[in-house]
This record gives sequence, C-alpha cells and structure tokens, in this order.
Amino acid sequence: MTAPTVTQIPGFRGDPITPDHPGYDDARAVWNGTVDRRPRLIARCRGTADVAAAVRFARARDLEIAVRGGGHNVAGTAVCDDGIVIDLSAMRAVSVDPVERIAQVQGGALWGDVDHETQAHGLATTGGIVSHTGVGGVGLGGGIGWLMRKHGLTVDNLVEAEVVTAEGDIIRASADDHPDLFWALRGGGGNFGVVSSFRFALHPIGPIVMAGPVFWAAGDTADVLRFYRDFAAEAPDELGTIVRLGTIPPLPGVGEDMQFRPAIAVASCYAGPVEAGERAVRALRHFGAPLVDLVGPTPYVDHQSGIDDTVPHGWHYYWKATNLTGLSDAVIDIVAEHAYGATSPRSYAAMFHMGGAVARASRGATAYPGRDVDHNIVIDAVWLPDQDDTVGAAETAWARRFLDALESHRAGVYVNFLDSDDDTSRVHEAYGDANYRRLVEVKAKYDPENLFRNNKNIPPATPAS
Ligand SMILES: Cc1cc2nc3c(=O)[nH]c(=O)nc-3n(C[C@H](O)[C@H](O)[C@H](O)COP(=O)(O)OP(=O)(O)OC[C@H]3O[C@@H](n4cnc5c(N)ncnc54)[C@H](O)[C@@H]3O)c2cc1C
Repeated sequence: MTAPTVTQIPGFRGDPITPDHPGYDDARAVWNGTVDRRPRLIARCRGTADVAAAVRFARARDLEIAVRGGGHNVAGTAVCDDGIVIDLSAMRAVSVDPVERIAQVQGGALWGDVDHETQAHGLATTGGIVSHTGVGGVGLGGGIGWLMRKHGLTVDNLVEAEVVTAEGDIIRASADDHPDLFWALRGGGGNFGVVSSFRFALHPIGPIVMAGPVFWAAGDTADVLRFYRDFAAEAPDELGTIVRLGTIPPLPGVGEDMQFRPAIAVASCYAGPVEAGERAVRALRHFGAPLVDLVGPTPYVDHQSGIDDTVPHGWHYYWKATNLTGLSDAVIDIVAEHAYGATSPRSYAAMFHMGGAVARASRGATAYPGRDVDHNIVIDAVWLPDQDDTVGAAETAWARRFLDALESHRAGVYVNFLDSDDDTSRVHEAYGDANYRRLVEVKAKYDPENLFRNNKNIPPATPAS
C-alpha cells in the first residue's frame, strides 16, 4: 500500500510526515531511545479539526492508531508500526484566565509550557516534575507532582476536556457533560478518545518556593529512610517530597568531587510561603551528615525543570514500579539493599510521598484509584544508546530483581509507570477490580471497537465477556 498523503485526509490542514520526509526519523522518535517504530504516516495536527479528520481517516482505512502527546511514555505507546500517529506535538498553546483561575491547555502541551504561562500570573496546577513531559499522558493517567498533597493530582484539577471520539465527533466532558466519560478520563489514559484541549483549575504558587534536594551517602540509606518515614507522615500538605536513590547527578551547585557518588536524596517543594517552607524542611536538612544541601528559595519554574537534564530524550530506559503498602522496616531494608545494585551511574529509583489531598478523595472518585497508598516507587534503569546490549540487559535485570524483592509489599501500581512488558498483564492491577469494571463499561460505550488500543489498554466489554 502506498503511504497516504494529506490530500487523502479530507479536512486535514496539518503536516503529514511520511517515511520519505526528511523529518520522519525525528518525528517518530520518542523520549525512550529503545523505542524504534515506523508508522506509515505521522499526522501532525494543527488543531482539533485536524485531529477529528485524522481519526475519521484512520478509522475508514482500518489503520492502527497511536496518539502522541509529549511522547514520554516509557513504553513508547505514542508511536506504532505501520499505522498512523495522531501527533499533537504542534498543539502546545496554553492560555490563562487569572480571574477564574483556569488554564486552557492544548493536548500536545508539555508541563514546561503550562508552568511558563501559569506562573506569569503566580498560578500553577499539579503537573509532572520534568518540564519536557507531556500534559496529555500525565493528565489522563493521574498526574503526581510536587503540589498534589496540597492541591490534588492533575486529574483532580481537570474541570473539562474537549475530546475527539472514535467516531471522529468533537464532544466535551465535564462533571455536567458526559460525566461517565469525564470520570474515565481522569485516570483511564488515552483509551476513550483524543483530548485536544484540557481545562485545569489553578492555584496561587510561588513564584518563589522553598525547594531542592538534600543528599546523604548511600551507606546512610536505611537511617535516612527511617527518619523520613516519620518526617513524611507528619509533613503538612504543603510539603511535597520525593526520595531519589542512585548517584548524585551533576546538577548546578554539585561539586565535581560529589558527582555520581552513590547517594540517597530527599527533594522537597513547599507550596506556601518561603518562611513556612524553611521551617517545614529544617529537621530534614539537619538530619545526619548531608553530603550536599541544595534546598533554598527557588523560582517554581526552575524547580520544575531542575532535573530535566538527568533524563534527556534518546537515552535508553526501562522501568518497573509499584505502590507500597507502607515504609516498614522490611521495605526500607529491601530498598537499601537493592537501590545501588545497578551498574549504570544514571539508573535510579524514585519514591513519591502521596497522601494529603490525594487521599481525601475516594478510590472511586476518579478512575485513578491509588488514593490509599502513602508511597510508591519507580525503578528506572537508564543506559546510553551507544552502550552495548549487555549493559541494557544488566540494568533491566536489576530493575526486575528490585521489584521482585518488593513482591510481598506491593499495593497496586500507577498506570503511567508501567513499561511495555506490563502493557496487558498489569493494567487491571493498576485500576483495581471496581474501577477496572467501570472503565470497561465506559470503553464499550465510547470506543466499542477498541480503536484507541496503543496505550495501557482497557479492552471494551463484549457480550461474551
Ligand atoms: C522523564 C519523565 C518524568 C515523569 N514524571 C512524572 C511525574 O512527575 N508525574 C507523573 O504523574 N508522571 C510522570 N511521568 C510518567 C508520565 O505520566 C507518562 O510517561 C505519561 O504517559 C507521559 O505523557 P506524554 O503525553 O508525554 O506521553 P505520550 O507517550 O505522548 O502518551 C502516552 C499515552 O497517553 C495517551 N495520550 C497522550 N496524550 C493524549 C491526548 N492528548 N489525548 C488522548 N490520549 C493521549 C496516548 O494513549 C499515549 O499512548 C514521567 C515520565 C517521564 C519519562
């Protein structure tokens, strides 16, 4: 079959990128450099009408569809072999209504775009902690970030979505409009349609916040985690913290002698006045003998992009993840034993402290169910594209071993942290029985033929099932 061209997509005014286009290889590359798929056509949309045209075109021709937001999903679901990529990467506009405290965000925007525009008004919403991550995938899967304990997950801040359905229709989903779809979009990922535009609630933040990481030597890990367990349990909702276990990245302010030393970090961000933030992190900064302390008053936008360079596009990545039943001594011992077992100095694990506003909603309030877990962990194997296959094999084996060791302490998983080998086997685990059942029903209503299946797929209910 010859590659379709724009003239064959009625009503499409975007950029069609076919294998003979000079930009094809760049356009099919995603964040994870291990992903190497060759779509027949990348339909780079300029607006909602293009998205609808591309969906109708793909449907009529029975083409496999992938939807690209920021292209960051570790499993590479934003791109497919042989089919069509509905590429939203040129749809990144963000506009802010500072009076209503609402941001209107196009479906291909990155978190850096949202933070840039909202912080111009001293506002923000909960988003990903790396600025080159996409709003689309984060905002439909859950959205954990620095502000979540105070202001909820990204999905908790979604007030309306413009959705292109599997039929190619353009509809709105909100609490009043298609409420079943609105429920499913808040955690169910890209299963139900293409979201061409989001409306998010905003909150006053910064623009200067008390934020940054403190690092201790890897040998102190168990002690730091035991201290952290109590510190986090008593932290105010304003204080978001993330533990990072690996080596000290070459961040500004880290001396050469410290770079790539094995270390545990607790990074924080206080969503309130700087003085209150200073008080909230004082005990943490005084615990034990830190190697490096980078906490200080920081522009929120800088904090949101502070670790961007530690996870650049094109490196090779493999993830394993789980929610944790708690930070028991047994969990702490397992984490301390496995966290530094990777051979690559770029591999690491990150543990997010949940709770606060996240936990004040019920498991069924949105499709994202993980309201009742205090901590989750993502184990990130990272190696360089020019390293030979044995390095990648060793790193992925480390991540799997680490997760296996946590087996009896698992309590579900965040869907957006699943990798490709979890695609089908762990999706049900990510939602739990009740939410999964409800998602299957909504899927059957809005996408009964499973047109949108290159994702963490929820197959629709069929009469047989
Ligand atoms: C470096 C890095 C940092 C991260 N940090 C965080 C974090 O702080 N918090 C957090 O919660 N998660 C985080 N994640 C995980 C993140 O939530 C997922 O990787 C997410 O899928 C990324 O969204 P994306 O739009 O960039 O991805 P894509 O790969 O473009 O999309 C993933 C899937 O989402 C769907 N999708 C995307 N956009 C749309 C849309 N507009 N309409 C319909 N479907 C769409 C599609 O099914 C697509 O296959 C991080 C990931 C990376 C790589």
